[in-house]
Amino acid sequence: MAPAASKADVAEYLGQAGSIPVRLRQLPPHIRCGAMTDDPHGTDPRRQVPRTDTLLADPRLAAAGDRLGRDLVKAAIGRVQQRVRDGEVPPASAVDAVVDELPATAASLRPVLNATGVLVHTNLGRAPLSPAAVAAVVAASGTTDVELDLGTGRRGPRGEAAIAALLEAVPAAEAALVVNNCAAALALVATALGQGRELVLARGELVEIGDGFRIPELLQTTGARLREVGTTNRVTLADYRDALGPDTGAVLKVHPSNFVVRGFTRVVEVAELAGALDGIPLVADVGSGLLRPSPLLPDEPDLQTTLAAGADLVLASGDKLLGGPQAGLVLGRAELVQRLRRHPLYRALRVDKTTLAALEATLRGPVPPVRELLAADVDGLRARARALAGRLGDAGVEAVAVDADSRVGGGGAPEHPLPGAAVALAASFAEPLRRGRHPVVGYVEDGRTLLNLRSVPPAADDALVTAVLEVARRWT
Ligand SMILES: *Cc1c(COP(=O)(O)O)cnc(C)c1O
Repeated sequence: MAPAASKADVAEYLGQAGSIPVRLRQLPPHIRCGAMTDDPHGTDPRRQVPRTDTLLADPRLAAAGDRLGRDLVKAAIGRVQQRVRDGEVPPASAVDAVVDELPATAASLRPVLNATGVLVHTNLGRAPLSPAAVAAVVAASGTTDVELDLGTGRRGPRGEAAIAALLEAVPAAEAALVVNNCAAALALVATALGQGRELVLARGELVEIGDGFRIPELLQTTGARLREVGTTNRVTLADYRDALGPDTGAVLKVHPSNFVVRGFTRVVEVAELAGALDGIPLVADVGSGLLRPSPLLPDEPDLQTTLAAGADLVLASGDKLLGGPQAGLVLGRAELVQRLRRHPLYRALRVDKTTLAALEATLRGPVPPVRELLAADVDGLRARARALAGRLGDAGVEAVAVDADSRVGGGGAPEHPLPGAAVALAASFAEPLRRGRHPVVGYVEDGRTLLNLRSVPPAADDALVTAVLEVARRWT
């Protein structure tokens, strides 16, 4: 910004001027900014920046201070004062402007509408919780009976109800344990069963999950030795048998969730392997968290079937297809689960009360959004897309309904595109929609912005229209 001219500068300039009003208008803007004579009644907003304590005393901002903390409100006030100084906000509207600036919560994570068509999007926080799970989180977030038996007044088992819900959903499991995420479950298993020993794993299952997270590297950091068997494309039962010995801690199967190998391939299924291990634990990481088989995703392994086929332990994520909070689920034989629970590392990986609450409510409550959206039929999605395009068209925004495939995401079902529908807008919408007050993340394809409805809960359709119209309004 140009420095404001001093009064002396202006007086000197005016001294040379014949007709003051005319000459003033010809002054360069930075000189006009400092010119008192241009603002004889003191209406220049830059001279009337409301004071911080005056603003803080406004009832709306005082209430916001109670809700968000004074520091966040003061920061918003500071930004608005600058905008008043810059002449962007009239001083009389400062309070309104601060209210507009205030974040919705004291955390900066913002709700985002996921219109990517990727159901479980890791960058967007994976599974959205069901309203029942959100309510359970809120209820549990104060002091709660997570480890106290209110009947006896004694210490009780932590997370018992969530575990019971898991065991009911997966009857093939004798016991269950919940940790922070599936990576934590793998780390715990590798430490408790494999430290200083060997973990047998097929070369075709040395998986990188995403963002550089490589399962073999994680396993090795626990002090387990990896004993790789087979080749990239083929492994046989004999390969596994040859690798077993007194040093074997466990045999691991990892679901290659985000890729497929086709052609001359062979894998050894859990049922075949389980019969050949002579009591060595067989641990299967199925990743996606499907509890039971899903006809919608025929290639995706599930916990119940994998245990019934003979796995001793199964591991999965809570926030993928299960549709719950971030968590690592470990289910299987009671003796092994107990060993994991007693291991000192478990204490470092256990989940908090809000996760336990959300998990239980996801398992016992209504179908969570991920599974509802997974089951949404194409005709329904097309009808929604047509209705939304119609509403936008009526409001003067060019929009059409188009067919668009979507994906499970989160490393699940890579070969299984889900048919669906999207609203197509001009490509120029993508960025302002993402940066808007109510961010919407779509994607650009063939020169258009697509808002894919497979990942948008129907209850959010109105919010989607509002967000698009807000962007369009700013352009007109
Ligand atoms: C996603 C995935 C993981 C990692 O799960 P997080 O819950 O993100 O730690 C591990 N294994 C498999 C097979 C997966 O698909």
